[in-house]
Amino acid sequence: MNDKMFKQTRFRLTLLFASLIVVFFVLFTSASYMIVSSLIMTKQRQQAIDLAEEEYMEHKFELLNWYYKNADDDDTDESISAHHSSMPFFYYVITRDGEVIKGEESFPEIRENILHRIHGWRPGNKDVRYETVTIGNEKIWFLLSGKQVLIKKIYIGTIYTGINITEQVYIVKVLTGVLCVMSIVFIGLSVVLGYYMSGRAMVPIANAFKRQKEFVADASHELRTPLSILQSSIEVIESEEKGKLGEFSLQVLDDMKDELKRMTKLTNDLLWLARSDSNAITLTKEWFPLFPVVNELIRKCRPLAEQKQIRFTVHMQEDIMVYGDKERIIQLMFILLDNSVKYNNENGQVSIKVERNRKNVMIEIKDTGIGIPIEHQKYIFERFYRVDPSRSQRQQGYGIGLSIAKWIVDAHGGTINVQSEEKRGSRFIVTLPQPTIIESEG
Ligand code: ADP
Repeated sequence: MNDKMFKQTRFRLTLLFASLIVVFFVLFTSASYMIVSSLIMTKQRQQAIDLAEEEYMEHKFELLNWYYKNADDDDTDESISAHHSSMPFFYYVITRDGEVIKGEESFPEIRENILHRIHGWRPGNKDVRYETVTIGNEKIWFLLSGKQVLIKKIYIGTIYTGINITEQVYIVKVLTGVLCVMSIVFIGLSVVLGYYMSGRAMVPIANAFKRQKEFVADASHELRTPLSILQSSIEVIESEEKGKLGEFSLQVLDDMKDELKRMTKLTNDLLWLARSDSNAITLTKEWFPLFPVVNELIRKCRPLAEQKQIRFTVHMQEDIMVYGDKERIIQLMFILLDNSVKYNNENGQVSIKVERNRKNVMIEIKDTGIGIPIEHQKYIFERFYRVDPSRSQRQQGYGIGLSIAKWIVDAHGGTINVQSEEKRGSRFIVTLPQPTIIESEG
């Protein structure tokens, strides 16, 4: 049980660490991507704008020529040449009628495509557009820009330019890919490292915890002998000296017996927990009738119940057979019954209901006592947990009972649940799985 607790804590620490690393890497990757891509793209934009400006200065006269020439005759001499250097990707001088009168291009085969996209676009000052075209299987990214040519505020055409940014886009893509892969690798590494580190951090805690458990086991074991000697000594005094003792001494003897009973119970519980931790408890399962067990338990609880005038009611068929470790199931039911009396009010009630179907036996112990506040309900099965010590103080106990009950139920593969309302009472429901062969055996 405690190993499980340590494993859970280790797992939680690793998860926390890994989540922090994931957040860190996601931020790092996105920031790197944004910074690098914006640096590269800002530069490309600027180049596209500069190019548009250059080509404008160089070729606006061609449009002017066309304009004036056009006024007289319709004949224009179109000339588009193949491109000489890697820059620019293309430029086209296009009249307001959509006629290309001059240009230069790297890939004549995509001219149609580009002209199609340009068609109707009148770039404003420093306007830039991202476009893609495919040549064969290759996708090409380019930045489209341009400048309008006006004469006396009359629009006569546009000089469009494009620069090829495929390489830059490729660099940004590769960089993003590399960053993502590296982040995943580092996240993986940090999870492994986090698991290792949290394991190391747990070692001293686990050791201290182990020593403390060993101490509890040894101490409770060592206490058993003196306690039983004390017990038998008191019994001897009681039987042999009772007549000679005065009233006060008899009272002292009674108190001693009570305290001894308490100490013996605590010692046994602690020893039991220590044994369950070291898996030294094995279950011996058998079929047994539950009805006599319930009656016997009620008889055991009666002295305390009578002090508070608590009534028991039992709802179960007398022939119910249960499969499990009889001693442990008695112990489990005693813990629940004892609590239902301890935490009950004067004139309260305790009802015991047992039902079984083909797969399970369901044991319900309900009281009309002080109840358990909702916020405490999920902790009461933990070791040494007591609801608000001040209210439980009136009752002897160390918060061990329900943790033992839970252990027994778990060992049988069953479940234990509580429903409770403060000041109204509590209902504990235990379900124990049963083998289906009862029909043939019972
Ligand atoms: P203990 O009774 O020794 O304190 P348990 O493990 O048996 O320890 O119970 C844990 C806590 O749960 C108790 O301190 C008590 O406050 C609460 N509790 C258990 N059973 C009941 C019940 N039937 N009614 C109200 N409170 C209960």
